[in-house]
Amino acid sequence: MNKKVYVTRRLPEKVMQLMNKTFEYDVNPEPRLATREELINGVKNYGAIITMLNDNIDSDIISMAGPDLKLIANYGVGFNNIDVKAANERGIYVSNTPDVLTDATADIAFTLLFAAARRVIEGDNIVRTSSFAWAPEYMLGYDITGKTIGIIGAGRIGANFGRKAALGFNMKVLYYSHRNSEQLDSIDAEKVELDELLTRCDFISLHVPLTPETKHLIGAAELAKMKSTAILINTARGPVIDEKALAEALTQKVIAAAGLDVYEHEPDVEPVLKTLKNVVLMPHVGSATFGTRDNMGFLVVRNVEAVLEGKEPVNMVRVK
Ligand code: NAP
Repeated sequence: MNKKVYVTRRLPEKVMQLMNKTFEYDVNPEPRLATREELINGVKNYGAIITMLNDNIDSDIISMAGPDLKLIANYGVGFNNIDVKAANERGIYVSNTPDVLTDATADIAFTLLFAAARRVIEGDNIVRTSSFAWAPEYMLGYDITGKTIGIIGAGRIGANFGRKAALGFNMKVLYYSHRNSEQLDSIDAEKVELDELLTRCDFISLHVPLTPETKHLIGAAELAKMKSTAILINTARGPVIDEKALAEALTQKVIAAAGLDVYEHEPDVEPVLKTLKNVVLMPHVGSATFGTRDNMGFLVVRNVEAVLEGKEPVNMVRVK
């Protein structure tokens, strides 16, 4: 059995140290994404490959996998960058890193919500670049505590975010999801249809994975149904929102504001968004805390170790 692992990008130092003790590996030493040739070399010549969420492991790359490849271990919970069906058809497992990044990602959704509702970036810019003077109607934003929040996709992150909203900020929680969420039902959240959520909520936060079903789940028609005071947060995946439609809606004040961590064509961002004051833009950093990125790496190592020992990965991704 080929027990050597290819790592498409250096992981945090503590994770590299753990890997040194756990298995033999080669790593792309450059501070950039692996090239397509490097990915092909990885799938052809190794027993497992550790990939980043922006490595595109499509069916073409998978078709070039060598007979030794047993696992594609993604450093991230989302796995829309991997053709899981093509991998499974060739007997290759896919794994991801759930749970360890749930709090960090829910926290960044809150960061965006607060920054957008209370105009944090605008305020910071004013203080740095000009002068300010308190006045009764100066820099007004939106109330958060006690307001209604809508969660689209009540899985691990969506439910965690909803509980924080209800328990920390006394918010009324509505959610739209495939299944009931026990965690949200236990705080008296209401499971509703998408249209009802769009029309009733003051804040809407996206937590669905990117699938053919969720691409452009939020477009011009959905934005038009939201309150003109609504604030939309996206920490899921960029293509869940039609980004051009969102830029237009923010320009025309169809909705009040947005907070985005992810973009439709990363790392590109719709240029109009960059000109607007009513959107807060973060560079896909949902899980980017010291502790979380270490824990994601430790989980990746556990998955690789299991497969190299002839077992199933601990966090196996399956196509539905
Ligand atoms: P999860 O536990 O699988 O939650 C996703 C939820 O969405 C599930 O309850 C799922 O229901 C539901 N869902 C899927 N498709 C739906 C649809 N069409 N309509 C309604 N509900 C739908 O995943 P998670 O761990 O919470 O992560 C969610 C996503 O966050 C990831 O896929 C990833 O893309 C994103 N993420 C981003 C960052 C970042 O850095 N910004 C960090 C971490 C994660 P079923 O399971 O019943 O299908």
